[in-house]
Amino acid sequence: MSDFAQTVKQQADIVKVIEGYIRLRNAGAQRFKGLCPFHKEKTPSFNVNGGSQQFFYCFGCQASGDVFSFVQKIENVSFLEAVRTVAQKSGIPLPKREFSSPEEAAEARLRTKLLELHETAATWFEEQMRGPEGALAREYLAGRGLLEEGIRKFRIGYAPDSFNALRDRLSGMADEATLRASGLFSSKEQEDGGHGRLYDRFRKRVVFPICNEGGRVIAFTARTLGAAAEGEKAGPKYINSPETPLYSKGQVLFNLDKAKMAVRTIGFALLVEGQMDCISVFLRGIQNVIATSGTAFTEQQVAILKRHTSNVIVNFDPDAAGANAAEKSIALLTEEGFAIKLVTLEGGLDPDRFIRERGVEAYKEAIRGARRQSDYLIERARMQFPGASAEQKVKQLNFLLPHIRRIPEKLARDQFAGDAAQKLGIDSAVLREELRQAALKRRERVETRPAALTEVERVLLRALAITDPEGETARKLAAQMVVDQPVWFEHLGAFPGLQALAARAANDPMDAVEDAVQRALLAEALLGESRPPEEDEVASALQELQERAVENRLRNLRAQIAEAERRGDYAELAVLTQQKLDLDRALRQLHGRKPRGQ
Ligand SMILES: [Zn+2]
Repeated sequence: MSDFAQTVKQQADIVKVIEGYIRLRNAGAQRFKGLCPFHKEKTPSFNVNGGSQQFFYCFGCQASGDVFSFVQKIENVSFLEAVRTVAQKSGIPLPKREFSSPEEAAEARLRTKLLELHETAATWFEEQMRGPEGALAREYLAGRGLLEEGIRKFRIGYAPDSFNALRDRLSGMADEATLRASGLFSSKEQEDGGHGRLYDRFRKRVVFPICNEGGRVIAFTARTLGAAAEGEKAGPKYINSPETPLYSKGQVLFNLDKAKMAVRTIGFALLVEGQMDCISVFLRGIQNVIATSGTAFTEQQVAILKRHTSNVIVNFDPDAAGANAAEKSIALLTEEGFAIKLVTLEGGLDPDRFIRERGVEAYKEAIRGARRQSDYLIERARMQFPGASAEQKVKQLNFLLPHIRRIPEKLARDQFAGDAAQKLGIDSAVLREELRQAALKRRERVETRPAALTEVERVLLRALAITDPEGETARKLAAQMVVDQPVWFEHLGAFPGLQALAARAANDPMDAVEDAVQRALLAEALLGESRPPEEDEVASALQELQERAVENRLRNLRAQIAEAERRGDYAELAVLTQQKLDLDRALRQLHGRKPRGQ
């Protein structure tokens, strides 16, 4: 370890550095505990020893080390970068750098340069916003309730209507390749495949800086000033920085740098969709607000957020895209063990407009009234598949089951399943069983879990579904029996599916079966075995059903006979007894055809 790294290690406080990333609580005697950022857990097993020891250790995944290895691991950077980061966080001035390899040196130089370029660009955009060219942009922002203080706080800038103004400003700072790597410029590819001349990517747009967790500008998102003038091309509403060595869209949460302290002290994060929403909410004093820089959450974003809180209130736009994004985000957050609530604003408003029209108190009220995710999803199920028919209930349930299965805790799954059964008025035993199964065991993948199939059902489903010249005789036999002798089959859970298959014209058996539960049963049978059953397997399945049907009728007859005897109705008794003798004989014949294993 270099002298400098030694110095940094002596002066840095590992507890303070780690607290910059995850929540820690004091466990006494210079010990601190928190949820491990390196493996999934619900109870803290991650320990930090402050004082003279200065190391961390996780009892769950055995991750351990000093302050540098923590930063290396969590930021995924080299040792030297970690030393620099810790030095910066601890206010220790950096010496001239040494690097272990030329590549590492070049990469670090590039990143540093790109940060400088972004910082300069951000400042320059801010100047343009204040200058005469920014008048229209200021007017636009004022129209959205964003005044000077907010503009300053979020460093909102203006990119003037020019192809080279920013390029001219930055060209003295870096060579062409570095400027290209910054993502601040575009160029047209030449016919020979070479690069064309660089020009400003953001033009005539309001520019919002995107910062990393440390508050450094690493990218921009730029919005048009509303409607384009006559004969002008406005282009897309938003233009974003491309992926660069500094910036990866799926790994950044907008405003986390400003919100993270509030997220920890208040105990939850408010998640909104757009940057404007986020800024608007934040400037009204709700400081624990962050935004996804696109629509749905990514796994990396969830992991980043998990370092600060496990509680989220989601307030996405109520339109279809917003609802879909919300569902996807819920899915990811649920899997990571977040407690989630959702807000749907009245009047279909997004947070920004809602606050401007109704005031921040009304918004806070809406946040306080956020619904549990189960209530929200049950409501979504009802809205998407309205009505109380059995068919709609199956659809509602199929929408909910994957969400239930994703919840890590059994208790929460039970509660959700119970709520769903009650609120959707599900009284069918089959559907209740589906819910019970969903709550019983957490499943990683979305699937429709049918009730267990009997062996007879498997054989018959395969016989009817799989088209194979060799199995044709058996298929026809099974189909004919399903049609002619429904009484043999009607106690089977797969009976509706068997009927649909027996009558099918479509080539794809899955198309013939429309009911979701029946389809799931069929899928299970086909996934178990893709070959058609042998002819005698089918025959023996049919025989078994026939026997069961005969035995059922015999049971009924015996009851009827006992009843006729009690009444003294000898005429009736004679008829019933004759029937019973016929059935006994039929059953003996059936049994005689093949020895049965009972
Ligand atoms: Zn761990």
